[in-house]
Amino acid sequence: MARYSPSIAKLVAELGKLPGIGGKSAQRLAFYLLGQPEDKVAALAQAMLDAKRNTRICSQCCNLTDQDPCEICSSASRDRSQICVVENPKDVAAMERIHEYRGLYHVLHGAISPMQNIGPDQIRLRELLARLRDDSAISEVILATNPTVEGEATALYIARLLKPAGIRTTRIAHGIPMGGDLEYADEVTLAKAMEGRREI
Ligand SMILES: [Zn+2]
Repeated sequence: MARYSPSIAKLVAELGKLPGIGGKSAQRLAFYLLGQPEDKVAALAQAMLDAKRNTRICSQCCNLTDQDPCEICSSASRDRSQICVVENPKDVAAMERIHEYRGLYHVLHGAISPMQNIGPDQIRLRELLARLRDDSAISEVILATNPTVEGEATALYIARLLKPAGIRTTRIAHGIPMGGDLEYADEVTLAKAMEGRREI
């Protein structure tokens, strides 16, 4: 690797820590940034800092938000009888893009994975159970975890927990390819998966 000045070497090293960015990409990005006017680079750095500083977890649905409760939880036009349970904030964004679902969400921030030592206590499941206990308006929980081994295991685990409570629990249909990610599903597939959900 070429020898860079300490400042450039540091920038390349930091960019290289980002997911999906290898050494070559890090160098390319670094030189792209160096070629930009200072205000453009400052705007990027500021956007990164602002997002980091202003983002918190919604005390109701655990989604990432600038305000608490988040926009969806505090909206008067959402159907408060349904909660769609997803693994990640990106999945909420994917669901919202289809403009069909009008209920609320719950973001687990992960899935149960014994292989990676992630148990039920490491995801935001306790928060979901507390919500269901405290809010009698909720009549359906839609499990929209990813169609991966971990996502399926998580859905089954939650379904089993909810059974005694008598809350209707559904799982989205398998329109999404096994091993796929909700966030990469196209809108029609996702809408169909939601439509074809079944009780588990
Ligand atoms: Zn919320």
